[in-house]
Amino acid sequence: MKKNEMFSKSLTFMKIQESLKYLYKSFFDFIYPPFCYTCDERLKESERLVCEKCWNSFKPYEGGIKIEKKELNIPGKTNFSECYLTYNYNEKTLKLIHIFKYSKKSSLSIRMGKKLGEVIKKNNFEKKFDMIIPVPLHKSRERERGFNQSDLLSRFASSESGIPLFKNIVIRTKNNKSQSQLSYKERIENVKNIFRVKQPEMIKDKEIILIDDIITTGLTVNSCCGELKKHGAKEIICMAVIHPVEK
Ligand SMILES: [Zn+2]
Repeated sequence: MKKNEMFSKSLTFMKIQESLKYLYKSFFDFIYPPFCYTCDERLKESERLVCEKCWNSFKPYEGGIKIEKKELNIPGKTNFSECYLTYNYNEKTLKLIHIFKYSKKSSLSIRMGKKLGEVIKKNNFEKKFDMIIPVPLHKSRERERGFNQSDLLSRFASSESGIPLFKNIVIRTKNNKSQSQLSYKERIENVKNIFRVKQPEMIKDKEIILIDDIITTGLTVNSCCGELKKHGAKEIICMAVIHPVEK
């Protein structure tokens, strides 16, 4: 083979290799669009869905992660003792939750769940609490979405903190409307008697961390806590990623 021929052959090979590389990259760009979902900047090769800069910009909830009960909108005495959050609420953190839930990017739960676990450890809750329970979705809603966002968050909060996760203790028996479209009065009615404890023996005298993705008025978690309390739970605290402030 002449030198020129060899050169052109290796050039062709290089071209094929480059095209394959391009195809491979395009395929992955198709599966994982290379732009950050929360800031629209281009992602680095090692980043997926949300860029590192955004993750680092999500600040802890103002006022030291604990949400005051007066910031919620629950009539009368609450069924939980305290409520903790991971991130401060803003446009980006709300977007993060929306992408997770509605665009079904379940992998985002890893980092958010881990963060919940860090809040647990920071407060030494692993020494006090017996179990983590996710706020259940109604079966049909879970089937439609493909996952329960609170389950996923709880799974990673549990592995980070070491507090065991119990998923099937309480179920949602009513596929109630989304709270966001309702008036305050309707909201109170909408979350009444929607949960049922299936395994009361498991929660008797137990201290429980109830996890949801978002806590707005607090009516939903309060209803769930009421059902747990009715069946003997000793103490419950609630945790969520964000608390959207309603205008
Ligand atoms: Zn970003």
